Amino acid sequence: MCRSTLFTKLFLLLLFACAMFFVGTYYYAIPLIDQRIYDIEVHAGKTSLNNLYSLLKQSKQDVAAWEQYSLNSHKKNLKNLINIAGKLLHSIYVRYSEHKLTMQQARAEAIAIISNFRYDKNNYLYLLDYNGTFIYHPDPKLDGYNGIDICDINGKKVVAPIIDKARAAGAAFHDYWWRRLGADKPSHKLSFSKNLPEWGWVIGSGTYLDDIAVESKQRRDQMILFLREYVRSSRIATNGYMYIFDGDLNMVIHPNANIEGTNFKTLKDPITNKSIGEELIAAAHSDKHSLVYMWDKPSDPGHYIYKKIAWVRYLPEYDYYVASSVYLDDLNSSGHVLATRLLQVTAFIAAVLLCLGVLFILSISNAIKKLACTANCIVDGNLDIKADIRRSDEIGKLADSFNQMVDKLREQIDLLEERVTLRTTTLTATVEQLEQNSEESRILRQANEMLQACRNEQEANEAIRIIMQKAFTANYGALFSLVYEGKKLQISADWNGDMATDTYFNHDACIGLRRGSTYVMTSHEQQLPCPHLGNNLSCISICVPVTAYGETFGILHQQLPQNSDENSVKRTLRMMEHISEYLANTVANLRLRARLQQQSVRDPLTGLFNRRYMDETLKLEESRALRNASQLAIMMLDVDHFKNFNDNYGHEIGDEALRQLGKLLRKYFRESDVPCRYGGEEFLIIMPNATLEQCHDKAEQLRSAVAGQLKVFHNGETIGITISIGVALFPQHGSRIHAAIKRADEALYRAKEQGRNRVVSAE
Ligand code: GH3
Ligand code: MG
Ligand code: MG
Repeated sequence: MCRSTLFTKLFLLLLFACAMFFVGTYYYAIPLIDQRIYDIEVHAGKTSLNNLYSLLKQSKQDVAAWEQYSLNSHKKNLKNLINIAGKLLHSIYVRYSEHKLTMQQARAEAIAIISNFRYDKNNYLYLLDYNGTFIYHPDPKLDGYNGIDICDINGKKVVAPIIDKARAAGAAFHDYWWRRLGADKPSHKLSFSKNLPEWGWVIGSGTYLDDIAVESKQRRDQMILFLREYVRSSRIATNGYMYIFDGDLNMVIHPNANIEGTNFKTLKDPITNKSIGEELIAAAHSDKHSLVYMWDKPSDPGHYIYKKIAWVRYLPEYDYYVASSVYLDDLNSSGHVLATRLLQVTAFIAAVLLCLGVLFILSISNAIKKLACTANCIVDGNLDIKADIRRSDEIGKLADSFNQMVDKLREQIDLLEERVTLRTTTLTATVEQLEQNSEESRILRQANEMLQACRNEQEANEAIRIIMQKAFTANYGALFSLVYEGKKLQISADWNGDMATDTYFNHDACIGLRRGSTYVMTSHEQQLPCPHLGNNLSCISICVPVTAYGETFGILHQQLPQNSDENSVKRTLRMMEHISEYLANTVANLRLRARLQQQSVRDPLTGLFNRRYMDETLKLEESRALRNASQLAIMMLDVDHFKNFNDNYGHEIGDEALRQLGKLLRKYFRESDVPCRYGGEEFLIIMPNATLEQCHDKAEQLRSAVAGQLKVFHNGETIGITISIGVALFPQHGSRIHAAIKRADEALYRAKEQGRNRVVSAE
């Protein structure tokens, strides 16, 4: 069963990530947002206040500009009007001067025209002569009246400056206070007058500045209305508001219409117990332009526990204070709302992410779980299973690759099993071969050891027989040694059965020997059989020459049944070659050893024992004779006149004579007798257990044989030699062997003296 720990881990990880996301939002983003929103609200509050302040300031400037414009416009109108009227009067005067009119008519016409002029709010034109008498004035009280001394309510001369300024400058403005037509109270009036020198008059008209002031006030009121609307519609945070009060702490604009127009000089700050208005004024003139104070709430009246902040600015043009106040809670409330909303959104997103994540993890972990289960089945040896995952993403590709890998694995395992079977077979064969080889090695090692232990060729032949019998248990074989100077092959050992070949034959009767290399005859129909096989052709015949150091000692021959397999033939051949090599080395060594031994004790010319061997034997035989209380005969032998012989026939013929003498001596004596070359042409023969008579007889026979038979050929002639012999007996003729030898030598000397070619015994 594959439990999905992957799902658990990934789910916990996702849960942790969601929790971290939520916690991170809560502890990092929310405070930041709170602070930011607070700052924004504060900034908005300040900006609203500044906007209101700017609007107010701008309105003041607008009204002032309008007032100036209105004044200029009135002035311009006055000028135009007076100029038109002046021109009309001039035209009348022209007619008078052309005598089309009398002065009286002209004057009447001029006054009629002026009196008919009315504009705006019953404004009029007036005519003055230079004396200050009104030629025309709509007010009947003044018409025809000399007003040169008229002063306004401020005591300022009215008529006289009009005339003077006009006469001086041609035209001029003059302001003064004057009652409107039909009005009781005087108004501030601006008059424009023009000099009419041809008439001797001054014509003028005026406009009342009150009209401009009234319009200005209307505009200001409109502005106030607009600002009030603005103030009432503006909010700082949720419940914050703006208001305007004047320097006397009269509320000019307030969102609450009931408070507008009231004086709040007596309203106290509950904490400082000072006038809140004065504190606000003081704040307006401070650098911070703000005041923090405690206040109550409409929802909780009388409890001054809520912190409020007010920003105040002073506008000197109006002597207005523009203020805004808001509860600090309000400033924070937007942040709180936003934070709560953000937290809700965060929680929602985290929940959605968690759900989506779970679905995603499930889809991945299920696929991986399937894959893992499949892998487990494969581990358990079920290679036929496949991961049944059909997806287009990387996991699907992984599953496909996995399935392909399993297919490959199965193929590889099948292949491997085939190979293992093959290898096992090969290995079994190899093991068998190795075992066989091991058996071979063991036999060969034994063969080598046995052959090395042999002291002579007979032992070696016997060893070969034992070895070959063991190695080739059922098949006949034989060892043939070369004899008669390599001309013949004679059987030295055979094994496993009856002779199946000749036992003695010419060396050329073996093809292997003839060729000097191994000869294997598997079929006499296809190959030439060795002649020594005779009629025995129904076998496989192997002949291995026994050769070492270029010298051939014989052949190792082995026969196998006709139906023997190739391996068996090969094995036989291999072993035979090894054994033959061992044998050849052994025989070579034995022969070398024998030769060396012979060379160390034999005299090379005569083949008799040398002087060293003689001394050793004398010692041995002396002690043996003494120990056994037996006797020992000594024969001293010398060639007669050998110096002459040499002189006559040469040294080489002398050597030949000595060689033949040695040969004769070797043949003539028994195995137990020891013929030695004493030195030069003198010889000593030790004859253990011989009596003096026997020794004498033998010496006589020898002398006779030499004298009769020994012949050396020289230049076609036959040359013979004679010998003299002295005989003595130990211990009869001396207590020490050398004393006895001396006696024999003395006997020899006597034989020489007596005429040579004779035998003399010691006395
Ligand atoms: P006698 O009958 O008295 O023995 O006379 P002799 O000439 O044999 O005696 P002698 O002792 O005077 O001479 C021995 C000679 O034997 C001298 C030497 O030339 C010869 N002789 C000794 N050894 C050898 C040898 O190995 N080969 C040959 N060819 N001659 C040898
Ligand atoms: Mg001599
Ligand atoms: Mg001599």
